[in-house]
Amino acid sequence: DRTLAECDPEVDAALRAELGRQRDTLEMIASENFAPLAVLQAQGSVLTNKYAEGYPGRRYYGGCEHVDVVERLAIERVKALFGAAYANVQPHSGAQANAAAMAALLQPGDTILGLDLAHGGHLTHGMRINFSGRLYRAVAYRVSEHDGRVDLAEVERLAHEHRPALIIAGWSAYPRQLDFAAFRRIADAVGARLMVDMAHFAGLVAAGLHANPVPYADVVTTTTHKTLGGPRGGVVLTCHEDVARKVDSAVFPGQQGGPLQHVIAAKAVAFKLAAEPEFTQRQRRTLGGARLLAQRLAEPDVARAGISVLTGGTDVHLVLVDLRGSVLDGRQAEDRLHAVGITVNRNAVPGDPRPPLVTSGLRIGTAALAARGFTEPDFVEVADVVAHALLPSFDGAVAAWLRSRVAALTTAHPLYPGI
Ligand code: PLP
Repeated sequence: DRTLAECDPEVDAALRAELGRQRDTLEMIASENFAPLAVLQAQGSVLTNKYAEGYPGRRYYGGCEHVDVVERLAIERVKALFGAAYANVQPHSGAQANAAAMAALLQPGDTILGLDLAHGGHLTHGMRINFSGRLYRAVAYRVSEHDGRVDLAEVERLAHEHRPALIIAGWSAYPRQLDFAAFRRIADAVGARLMVDMAHFAGLVAAGLHANPVPYADVVTTTTHKTLGGPRGGVVLTCHEDVARKVDSAVFPGQQGGPLQHVIAAKAVAFKLAAEPEFTQRQRRTLGGARLLAQRLAEPDVARAGISVLTGGTDVHLVLVDLRGSVLDGRQAEDRLHAVGITVNRNAVPGDPRPPLVTSGLRIGTAALAARGFTEPDFVEVADVVAHALLPSFDGAVAAWLRSRVAALTTAHPLYPGI
């Protein structure tokens, strides 16, 4: 058999270039991470060849004895990790996990209440042209103008006004932890189901550093590739047997065909690693790094440039930078960081005066650097580099100085040294 390099030098070259980019830059996109080598190996395995429609022990294809072992391991491990009674590990992505969970609990036309996309929600929480906004009647709650935090009084008011069938708690760009007990009380008061989408903070939950939504929600969805650090994919968890049965049929045959068994194998490996003490240490470093970044971006030199941090800090793996008072817009700030070797994404801030492709904010996460082994002194250095890249004193000489500091950090923490 020919290797990739032999049969497709063009793709091989692009993959090598991407490995080089990941090694030589600081990855601070809050939804990204570095999957461990064992996860990459499981995902790049012969399981990609196998059709296995159905569930372990109930397949529509022969030869499933080994993929059954793998899928059962993934299910049992993720249940133990989050204290759930039932798990579906087949969703191809977080969006598909959300689609399946909603299909299990809702009828088309039902009302859903989720966090506004422009205030940190996800597309699948009711955005107008997403399936969630087209299939369901979507109502959005927002963060409060005065402190940037989810306004539970507004959630309650909207819940009573619109009587949603489902309330969604969860976010893609929000720097604080949500009060799941309060969401449960509001849902119960109006007879709604509660779905928590913990895609971003699942790794923190697994490490015991964030409240676990599983006991509160009718259904919990997650991706497996953000703070959890596994392969790209989705999972649905629940403690309720009736919900579990509906979720299983919503995933298959409701919206997917053959499960990606190679990805399920990689999920199983990631769940095993997430139960180890080393994973908890890594999540602690993730949180510590985000706090150090928020602190640096609150110092006087940054404040004088009109830059601040939404909600004044963070208790998760990301910081949201507010550029509304700065001469930089989100795109320019993203470009500056890119120029010094730091990858982030621009992000709308609540009430953003600029269009979505420009924005007035940045979302900066620390999970990938923690996976790379960064410790407190490294994060102090990273935070200072980020701050200097955003200051008005930035010019060609400063850029060169910052690039050399980034190079020192990437050299000190080699990525995937074995490949
Ligand atoms: N849910 C939340 C809260 C997310 O932030 C994301 C991804 O950004 C998703 C769901 C969707 O995940 P995927 O990109 O795997 O479809």
